[in-house]
Amino acid sequence: MQLFSERQSLISGILFLTITIVAAQESPAVKRWPTIYKPKTKAKIVTLQRGDETRPYIYHTRHFELRSPIALSRRHLEKFATVAESVPEVISRIPLPLLGMPPGGRAKVLIFPDEDSFIKAGGVQGAAGYYSGKKAAIMLRADTFLHPPTAGSRLPPKADYDLLVHEFVHLCMHRNLGYLPTWFSEGVAEYFAAAHTDFGVYRFDHILQSIRNRVKQALAHENNLLTLPGVVETMALTPKTWQNRIVHGKAVDSYRMYGSSLLIVHALFHGGTNRRDATRTFLQNINARKPAANQVELLIPTKERNQLQKRITTYWRPRGLRLKFSTASD
Ligand SMILES: [Zn+2]
Repeated sequence: MQLFSERQSLISGILFLTITIVAAQESPAVKRWPTIYKPKTKAKIVTLQRGDETRPYIYHTRHFELRSPIALSRRHLEKFATVAESVPEVISRIPLPLLGMPPGGRAKVLIFPDEDSFIKAGGVQGAAGYYSGKKAAIMLRADTFLHPPTAGSRLPPKADYDLLVHEFVHLCMHRNLGYLPTWFSEGVAEYFAAAHTDFGVYRFDHILQSIRNRVKQALAHENNLLTLPGVVETMALTPKTWQNRIVHGKAVDSYRMYGSSLLIVHALFHGGTNRRDATRTFLQNINARKPAANQVELLIPTKERNQLQKRITTYWRPRGLRLKFSTASD
């Protein structure tokens, strides 16, 4: 009996030691990168105010407030809200301080019943929705996501939930967007859009295929060799020059900047411990409002940018992306 207990305690001692070691490996100071994120339940929606001619309908989900001049169908609202709510949840599971919800309670989502009202509010023709930094809100066409038109009316753009994820990532990083370089915010938004599968589910274990497919699909008019702006060029784009390229360039070319940004962000997130640590420090400094220009230099020093571009090219070639950067890498 005695022996048995001693043995038992020895065994549990060994077991305890093993568990301690495993626990020490599995819960380091920094969380692990998730492999998958799946919402546990569908998002809860509360109708806060029923609208009429003088006031909008107001719906609340956990993180967002939707305002709409028209009543929204529950069925569509449910998928929309589940995808929207997945965004702050998935961002909070990434071991980097990326989240920065707008201040003042639930973040706003302003719904427009049709294209005309959407364009009047600053929306672009053919687009389904966008994030407005000035309004700290997502502007969205109801006829795309929430209230598909009845038969016979003009066909709106197809609901693109990956695009919705992209815009919601901007909203969920709102507090820091003014301090982050454009390529970084756009690359991060594209990273989550690529990882998103459907209904608020994200697969990080398939991130390479997802990134490859997203870039290839967006530049499907190119043959096998995709031309992208170089790392130095992309990192030098200001919000203004970025916008100018979209407005004045060909529509089919605008994704190129997003493509480069996505590949740079992927290198920061998955290019080894040093890059990830540098990204964490960079974001901590941005959150603490240390001077931004200097922070970018610490994140990827100017002298390393051409080197990184070469690495991105050689990394992706055997993984199904043949890249040609439009600025010389030497
Ligand atoms: Zn964007």
